[in-house]
Amino acid sequence: MDKISTVAIVGGTHGNELTGVYIAKKFSNNQDLITRPSFSSQVLFGNPKAIEQCRRYIDKDLNRCFSRADLQNAALSSYEDTRAKEIQKILLSPQGKPYDVIIDLHTTTSNMGLSVLLSSEHPFLLRLSSYLSSISDDVKVFCSPKSQNGVYLDSLSDLGFAIEVGAVAQGVLNADLFQKTEKLILAALDYFEGYNQGTLFDIPSTLTIYNYIGAIDYPRNARGEIEAMIHPQRQFQDYQPLHPGAPIFITFDGQEISYEGTSTVYPIFINEAAYYEKGVAMCLTQKKTVTIYHPKRERQIR
Ligand SMILES: [Zn+2]
Repeated sequence: MDKISTVAIVGGTHGNELTGVYIAKKFSNNQDLITRPSFSSQVLFGNPKAIEQCRRYIDKDLNRCFSRADLQNAALSSYEDTRAKEIQKILLSPQGKPYDVIIDLHTTTSNMGLSVLLSSEHPFLLRLSSYLSSISDDVKVFCSPKSQNGVYLDSLSDLGFAIEVGAVAQGVLNADLFQKTEKLILAALDYFEGYNQGTLFDIPSTLTIYNYIGAIDYPRNARGEIEAMIHPQRQFQDYQPLHPGAPIFITFDGQEISYEGTSTVYPIFINEAAYYEKGVAMCLTQKKTVTIYHPKRERQIR
């Protein structure tokens, strides 16, 4: 693979996820923090209008506006559709190529620690994730393979990924998560620099990945109204095993509703505030361990 020459750090793709917004502000005012000798880096505010109003979006979710078809569809003219087309143009290198890496910063009301969200098991991204997981126990790696037609902002780059941190409420800053997220981004930049310079990294030889397998909605009545809440035993239990028959919801009069699947799964995005409107009470994943391929210049530990 060629060297990394352009990196974009995007905050505020969702305007009420303040960790990313304020990290982007900090980096934008202190460019030296993200400057490395071997590549150029740029900070971008994803959804300026939504940031101003501290809302997730104005007309529609910006982070679902990046399918190739939508980006080429001139008839789509909502604020976010227009902004998506602008972002696609902004994130082109002077040579007219998409940025090599896009890091899109998000927060979640779910207890997901420092989650690295990949849309492919690209060997470079797996090695990066393995490195990041070696510097913090809070790092978890979630992979949701996309079709060729990605819809997320980070899909503009082959090596794009999101950092999703939580639990933190929308519109709220949490200093601990802010500092951990910043450290993780800077470590990723150091990794890119080291990669470009041929530096040896100590990275674990295996990595645990949580692969997306589906989503569960809340129980709803015929009018679409929610009839049960996340069960107290599941609240904040992201990445913990959910066994068949275990309670997942509880109705307003206290009746438990159990998980009807036939195998153990690992739910994430449990009770994410922004997903009520998407019909998602939690996403289900399968846990697996992958072996990390090491190019000769990287050293393996464990
Ligand atoms: Zn978000």
